[in-house]
Amino acid sequence: MSNNPTVLEIDENAVKHNLQYFRSKLKDSTKILVVIKAFAYGSDSVMIANILEQQKVDYLAVAYADEGVALRKANIDLPILVLHPQVENFDKIISYHLEPNLYNFRTLNAFIVAIKRAGVDNYPIHIKINSGMNRLGFKENEISQLESELQELKNFKIISFYSHFAASEDSHEIDFSKQQIDIFSRACVTLSNSLPYTPLRHIANTSGIIHFPEAQFEMVRLGIGLYGFGNEKKETAQLKNVCNLKTKISQIQHISNGETVSYNRRFIANKKTKIGIIPLGYADGLNRNLGNGMASVYVKNRKVPVVGSICMDMTLIDVTEINCEEGDEVIIFNHQDHILDFAKKTTTIPYEILTSISQRVERKLI
Ligand SMILES: *Cc1c(COP(=O)(O)O)cnc(C)c1O
Repeated sequence: MSNNPTVLEIDENAVKHNLQYFRSKLKDSTKILVVIKAFAYGSDSVMIANILEQQKVDYLAVAYADEGVALRKANIDLPILVLHPQVENFDKIISYHLEPNLYNFRTLNAFIVAIKRAGVDNYPIHIKINSGMNRLGFKENEISQLESELQELKNFKIISFYSHFAASEDSHEIDFSKQQIDIFSRACVTLSNSLPYTPLRHIANTSGIIHFPEAQFEMVRLGIGLYGFGNEKKETAQLKNVCNLKTKISQIQHISNGETVSYNRRFIANKKTKIGIIPLGYADGLNRNLGNGMASVYVKNRKVPVVGSICMDMTLIDVTEINCEEGDEVIIFNHQDHILDFAKKTTTIPYEILTSISQRVERKLI
């Protein structure tokens, strides 16, 4: 392992705590799938998958086939749903025993061809219903045709029917979410009619688990909640932050009144100022719009502003008031509030702050 000063710590106890919190909201019989797409929301998919395997979650999900392949190569044995597989990857999906979401007749039929080609039987698949998100999935008016096709086709086993909420976190959209639950439930009834077995059903993401306990069905899909965000203040307060981004001061510059720092001289000192230079920049995922006093970081438990423009590999902070020296630790974030603040200041959501931490930053399990 390298000794890079910039690290993203992954807090194992926080992951376990958050998982336990969501489990406590579910019926004993409800299965839990955890979504670890996009490097487990910017953390580390293998580290998180190992914890989840040990914690005996029922399923994992990734967005793309290659994300699932990486998990298999790291000896993860849990079943893995690929949420957005491409026809081009079907052979790979089969050889790594990943379970595709089939979301329209084109992908369904292409997968049938692929399993015949591979000569496998009883292959696990998942079918996605579009209940109003209008992203992937079979629409209501296709359900009866789908029902008859599923009857005809053999060689696979439908593990689940699932759908996705468009606005489960939004209290103004409760009616719409309930309508999605109805559309999904009806589709499942029709589709299960002629099957000799009953697939699992799942629709709830993190905020679905929180807001629609009646829509747990047989499984839920936990995402952002595992990493400490409940999509609601009261819920987030019950959760622990998983990803802590830290670094160390590389150099300290003492500048005088009238001197400037960083590109385009956007910070001009109006007094003697002590500047700390830290080794991470926008290429590491610190959004450039957080520069010039927009965001703060923490040195010796005190808040210090980012000054001047954030560079590709470096950021400058004003540590005039802090008794600190080169090599001292700097916390970029280690609490959900810090991440929420970055999100607010860059008009985005915690999901994007986390998934933006680039692969250049070393991950470390603590
Ligand atoms: C990302 C994703 C989830 C997880 O959503 P959260 O809001 O992070 O809990 C669940 N289902 C699907 C289909 C997804 O793409």
